[in-house]
Amino acid sequence: LQSAGAAAAPQQSYPTSHARIASPRDTQNFLNNAFVASSATQWIDLHDPATNNLVTRVPQSTDAELVAAVDSAEKAFKSWSATSLLARQQIMFKYVHLIRENWDRLAASITLEQGKTFADARGDVLRGLQVAETACGITTQMTGEVLEVAKDMETRSYREPLGVVSAICPFNFPAMIPLWCIPIATVTGNTIVVKPSERDPGACMILAELAAQAGFPPGVINVVHGSAKTVDFIIDEPRIKAISFVGSNKAGEYIYTRGSANGKRVQANLGAKNHAAVLPDCNKNHALNAIAGAAFGAAGQRCMALSTLVMIGETKDWVPELAERAKGIKMDGGFEEGADLGPVISPQSKQRIEDLIASAEEEGATILLDGRGQKPEKYPNGNWVGPTIIANVKPHMKCYKEEIFGPVLVCLNVDTIDEAIELINANEYGNGTAIFTRSGSTATRFQKEVEAGQIGINVPIPVPLPMFSFTGNKKSIAGGGASTFYGKPGLQFYTQQKTVTSLWRSEDAVATKASVNMPT
Ligand code: NAD
Repeated sequence: LQSAGAAAAPQQSYPTSHARIASPRDTQNFLNNAFVASSATQWIDLHDPATNNLVTRVPQSTDAELVAAVDSAEKAFKSWSATSLLARQQIMFKYVHLIRENWDRLAASITLEQGKTFADARGDVLRGLQVAETACGITTQMTGEVLEVAKDMETRSYREPLGVVSAICPFNFPAMIPLWCIPIATVTGNTIVVKPSERDPGACMILAELAAQAGFPPGVINVVHGSAKTVDFIIDEPRIKAISFVGSNKAGEYIYTRGSANGKRVQANLGAKNHAAVLPDCNKNHALNAIAGAAFGAAGQRCMALSTLVMIGETKDWVPELAERAKGIKMDGGFEEGADLGPVISPQSKQRIEDLIASAEEEGATILLDGRGQKPEKYPNGNWVGPTIIANVKPHMKCYKEEIFGPVLVCLNVDTIDEAIELINANEYGNGTAIFTRSGSTATRFQKEVEAGQIGINVPIPVPLPMFSFTGNKKSIAGGGASTFYGKPGLQFYTQQKTVTSLWRSEDAVATKASVNMPT
């Protein structure tokens, strides 16, 4: 058992290369502000996606460890929820400061375990950090409402925390997604059990350590590990009141359905197929650069990756030029100077992506740029797929219907903006979409008529900043988007309202008969 206090003292060194780790250490649970070695009998090997060297073993936390995490969170809730908002805010200020101080260390962990380039991993941390920074404004965000109903009567409503909540995270943003949840959940007075992705929990473990250093009391933030078994525990444990999930439709729809049936609040952000509509009047250079960056950045493993291009009219002739820009993207180990594109998460993922490219070929599309079989010289054993562009795609093709989640851009041709809108709206996903045009009226029409939840106008990845909310829709979010992450809806998700009506009469009541009717 290693206390977080002890872990906090000397700043641990962090990886700056993909070199083989001589003796990989097992990932631990984080309970009651202490790193606790797991007694697991099942372990998940975690490999560096650039080399496939073993980085750590992640436990399938045991039943006793899972219960211990909820015990610790439940115990902490009593005093944490009674801690003044100003005191919680002070801890959040410190937390934000520590995350910023450990920015590179967090990013390095992400590059090692997830594969994205170091520069991109820094962005992963920053976008989470911004949620934590915004949560520092809790003292003005959590104010309630008071109405003087009559001279001697008032009604006030305010928000209270729910209790123990939980976050189940995906592999593609190992710092950002835990930080979509931890700051808002805790600053509002809840305690939390986090289950990071079993494929890259390292950043979340650092975030837990920093939380202890920042002054979060023991039990406020706990981290457990594993896959479906841990998820089932979270869904069924009655003391967990709410679940935040981000990940695939397969897991998320299951978690939403079963979690809701158990009476829990569930917010669940799911998969995507984001379209970019390109008009001939756009700033061509800007559009091509933006599209190449948004399609291939993070190896296409972003839920807001711009994976589908809708070329309107003559812009279909621009695709070869786009391919030239894609060829300029440097695929390499994420720690290497000048690397633009890292590996995909696993050999299975690489195989799936390659199979989808092959299916496009079989269905009659054109592989204009083929990333299969490419690898950087220094990293022959990584999970590499180079930038791939598939042209002449039709909506019935598998490569269009499925989320590829790799550095693959599928291109469809239409003649008019009406056709583009119709195509985008017919797609079952609705996370994000972008339009590239110089016409304000066309952009406005697109904005009004298109059904995706997050729209970029000449902006390729329109992820809202934390003072707004992440507003995907359709199949990209469970429950019809009733609950979205961060921003005002995020705060509402982690709190419940209490409404108090009070009557203070200055004179004594004179009536001697009870009134049994509803007041009219
Ligand atoms: P995933 O669904 O495989 O895993 C997410 C979490 O669910 C993990 O913690 C995992 O352990 C758990 N899980 C996986 N399978 C499960 C099962 N059968 N039963 C119970 N739990 C299970 O997702 P991923 O591959 O880690 O992440 C990629 C997906 O996440 C993509 O579809 C991407 O679009 C989506 N995503 C969406 C958003 C968004 O905001 N909409 C953001 C990031 C990622």
